[in-house]
Amino acid sequence: MSARDLFILGCSSQQPTRTRNHGAYLLRWNDEGFLFDPGEGTQRQFIFANVAPPCVTRIFVSHFHGDHCLGLGSMLMRLNLDKVTHPIHCYYPASGKIYFDRLRYGTIYHENIEVIEHPVSSEGIVHDDGRFQIEARFLEHGVDNVGWRIKEADSRKFDKAKLKAMGVQGPLVRILEQEGKVSIDGRTIHLDEVSWVRPGDVFAVAIDSLPCPAIVDVARGAKLFLCESTYLEAHGHLAEKHHHMTARQAAEFAKKAGVQQLILTHFSARYQDLSAFAKEAKEIFPNTLIAEDLKVFPFPLEDIK
Ligand SMILES: [Zn+2]
Ligand SMILES: [Zn+2]
Repeated sequence: MSARDLFILGCSSQQPTRTRNHGAYLLRWNDEGFLFDPGEGTQRQFIFANVAPPCVTRIFVSHFHGDHCLGLGSMLMRLNLDKVTHPIHCYYPASGKIYFDRLRYGTIYHENIEVIEHPVSSEGIVHDDGRFQIEARFLEHGVDNVGWRIKEADSRKFDKAKLKAMGVQGPLVRILEQEGKVSIDGRTIHLDEVSWVRPGDVFAVAIDSLPCPAIVDVARGAKLFLCESTYLEAHGHLAEKHHHMTARQAAEFAKKAGVQQLILTHFSARYQDLSAFAKEAKEIFPNTLIAEDLKVFPFPLEDIK
């Protein structure tokens, strides 16, 4: 079966701690490896996580504060060293092009891999290959900062027992799918009688933002929603001052957006024990989990209850 899981490679905010590396998140989804916000030390976290870096196909930088991008250069160099043959697509806010270039070319190396840049200057769909769509929305963080919504295409699923019972087999299945109906022995069988549409799954990320309406747009109906909660409500004044959110605010967005599961991350170094984050968020949105370095969360095919 294809890989479908989310690796937390780090979950600190600006300042790493003994137990929390700078943030970095790898979502393996079918043959794609989406790497979000590779902070400092991401390359080494792959080793601890027992994941080979060449699985990365796309890198997303939400914004160019150091904790979200200091590992970009070393990840690109690592992929170069590993001689990946597939292109590496990189998405980032267009206004940060100068920082992207500095990180990409910060040291001496001979670049052999193909890096395809997608600077995001306006909101909307930034990728659609028929298999999945990537949508970018600007969040509110005092600097250009992008939230990402990745949606898989809807797919049609057939009831094999019904197909067999109705005698729809071989090339007739393709005709039924293409034309919406097929005739067998004078009887017309319609597509919806023997199949249904499975809505594509959604994975959403909103890291580093004040509460803003775009977060709901990013997260709407997501199966997994990875969201920052740098502070607890008790330090809400700091969250506001530094353009961040509290656990409670993240949970309110998860509820409003109707997500299936919320994963909190990007914790301030002032907190050692994160259990209060879970408690605060679960009062609003019970299906909340707390990120932890090297923890792996499943991104299952079935709904998360
Ligand atoms: Zn940050
Ligand atoms: Zn930031």
